[in-house]
Amino acid sequence: GPVLKAQNEPVLGYAPGSPERAALQRELESQSQSAASIPLVIGGDHIDTRARVDLAAPHDHGHKLATVSQAEGKDIELAIEAAMKARQEWSRWSLQDRSAVFLKAADLLADKYRQRLNAATMLGQSKTAQQAEIDSACELIDFLRFNVQFAQEIAAQQPNSSRGMRNLTDYRPLEGFVYAVTPFNFTAIGGNLATAPALMGNTVIWKPAATAALSNYLFLRLLEEAGLPQGVINFVPGNSSEISARVFGHPDFAGLHFTGSTTVFDELWLKAAQNLKSYKSYPRLVGETGGKDFVLAHASADVEALAVALLRGAFEYQGQKCSAASRAYIPASLWPALRQRLLEDVAGIKMGNVLDLSNFMGAVIDDKAFRRIARYIDLARQGAGARILAGGQADASAGYFVPPTVVQVEDPGHALMQEEIFGPVLSVYVYEDARWADVLRLVDTTSPYALTGAVFARDRQAVQEANGALRHAAGNFYINDKPTGAVVGQQPFGGARRSGTNDKAGSALNLLRWVSPRTVKEAF
Ligand code: GLU
Repeated sequence: GPVLKAQNEPVLGYAPGSPERAALQRELESQSQSAASIPLVIGGDHIDTRARVDLAAPHDHGHKLATVSQAEGKDIELAIEAAMKARQEWSRWSLQDRSAVFLKAADLLADKYRQRLNAATMLGQSKTAQQAEIDSACELIDFLRFNVQFAQEIAAQQPNSSRGMRNLTDYRPLEGFVYAVTPFNFTAIGGNLATAPALMGNTVIWKPAATAALSNYLFLRLLEEAGLPQGVINFVPGNSSEISARVFGHPDFAGLHFTGSTTVFDELWLKAAQNLKSYKSYPRLVGETGGKDFVLAHASADVEALAVALLRGAFEYQGQKCSAASRAYIPASLWPALRQRLLEDVAGIKMGNVLDLSNFMGAVIDDKAFRRIARYIDLARQGAGARILAGGQADASAGYFVPPTVVQVEDPGHALMQEEIFGPVLSVYVYEDARWADVLRLVDTTSPYALTGAVFARDRQAVQEANGALRHAAGNFYINDKPTGAVVGQQPFGGARRSGTNDKAGSALNLLRWVSPRTVKEAF
């Protein structure tokens, strides 16, 4: 049949007095009242384990939101068994029938559970209402709907036939199970990493980040309500090395769908390599990892637009996006005006408990993140060649609060210009206008990552030079816009070098990793 064309879900505004705001307030209240209990979900059974961890609100760490069951080795064995059993049926469902489940899930999320998921994302992951809305509502709905469109486009791609023969491509699922390891920073990414392989007929072991377990579990329940059969996606929060040992040691391991740190992805890749000969097939390893995303300004840049991009790119969601603007290259001629504007804007940022909807920033995710970011700020405070221009006073007494921090570095090779911080710290290097060509080379070579980047210039030739010189420096390249906020169906997302395998989440390229095509020729 004709391919259904997906539309992006409109972003709601949460203005005072709006119905969506009232609904959100109700959900925030009810989810704040008592601590939820989050079980494992294996073969459709919801299992409370004896081993548990507490989940606290990052912006109010005395507030226990949930206890999360922890999978152990034997649970993983059961989950793999359940996945392999469910696979027998699910892999034979038509794409049409599988699609119907995920389209139904998208509708449930848009119309019935939107505020519930947003509230869980706000409370558990410390997102503002707006940051939750673009994640656990719009982006997750978009992943579900667009992936269905892309899967149908893939199925429609068929070889030529000629007289006396018919050829076709059968887009089989992988022969085994897929392991989805998902991050705290986007509820939508957790949902996509688990559902994209399932849409293509695979069954999945889903290990969510402990800190996103509340929103991710609510999404799993929504999938059940949408009619996802038992065992297609098995939810196993828990200790990652214990889980990974079982998963990578299993002969039916067929693929990894990962978003997280470069270090962990490296470890998992090596585990797969160590076990390679025990697998039935070569596994698919798909990972989106770290970033050290640049904003490069040319002397012809619009200072106003640049200031807004830096502020939003560096500080929305506390800089905890792989795509966050974290190193800026500013020409000396623009710096005085930009500096004044940027520091004024930063001084106006409201940070605090996300229950106060007027805050622009919440807290960073946990104590470990807080300490890592604080170490980088100390590096700027103590080391030579760096100066803190704004922020710097981190305080974890009530919640893990790190204020928006701007650091100017003298040396463009400073650690603050190379390493991923994953927090609200923007490093700025000011260059002599005449050194544009040198700066293009610096941007390309300073960091091992290549996820996102932006160039700001009104001069067309400068745009073209940056576009050419930085062709491999970012998988998502923005011209006169911030480097965050890729929209499904509009800017397929992913980077190369040490930022991952660049299999573009939210595109047909990603879905192709979850099929093993069979060519069939029939002669008459
Ligand atoms: N897709 C998100 C963006 O464009 C970033 C995803 C991530 O942080 O992994 O901002």
